[in-house]
Amino acid sequence: MNKSPRQRFNEKCLWRDSGCLIWTGAVRGSRQKRGCFWDGKKTVDAARWQLTNLVRPPKEDECACHTCDNSLCVNVEHLFWATHQENVADMHAKQRSHHYTDPSVGKQAGAKSQATFRQKPHLRARGSRHGSAKLTEDQASAIQNSALPSEWLAKVHGVSRSTINRIRNGSLWSAAIKARQESPGN
Ligand SMILES: [Zn+2]
Repeated sequence: MNKSPRQRFNEKCLWRDSGCLIWTGAVRGSRQKRGCFWDGKKTVDAARWQLTNLVRPPKEDECACHTCDNSLCVNVEHLFWATHQENVADMHAKQRSHHYTDPSVGKQAGAKSQATFRQKPHLRARGSRHGSAKLTEDQASAIQNSALPSEWLAKVHGVSRSTINRIRNGSLWSAAIKARQESPGN
């Protein structure tokens, strides 16, 4: 069976408690490692591929930047396009505030993605095809805490939209997530 680039991509990612989706495939770079992904034609930056496919292609001079400062993270909610100049300004802002938790970044990305899905209905996940995928507790928790549209989450996590909606309305995974939220340190 031929796997789609999306399937091959998802198989190389691992969820962490932090909410980061860590790339476990090939990497390049010594100080700041970046994921490398074979898209079927060429090797591309993994974070760049994720943003291009789930949000929009980059404009000239834009690079894939992280809100979580984990260069191997490919969670689309932790990624945004920025020009080199914007990236430098962002780094300065992060140095000023030790914990960078600006939620507006994710919200803006979410709003954009909804617009993208409206304009390009073919980008929507085709639910039942992915319906059999298994989720982890980390993923379920990330889904419940996410502000992103269910279409997008379904695609990212490889499950159906109804699974996403059931997690969100508490009929799936709620006990595990509740236990997790009540445990110290979370
Ligand atoms: Zn991250």
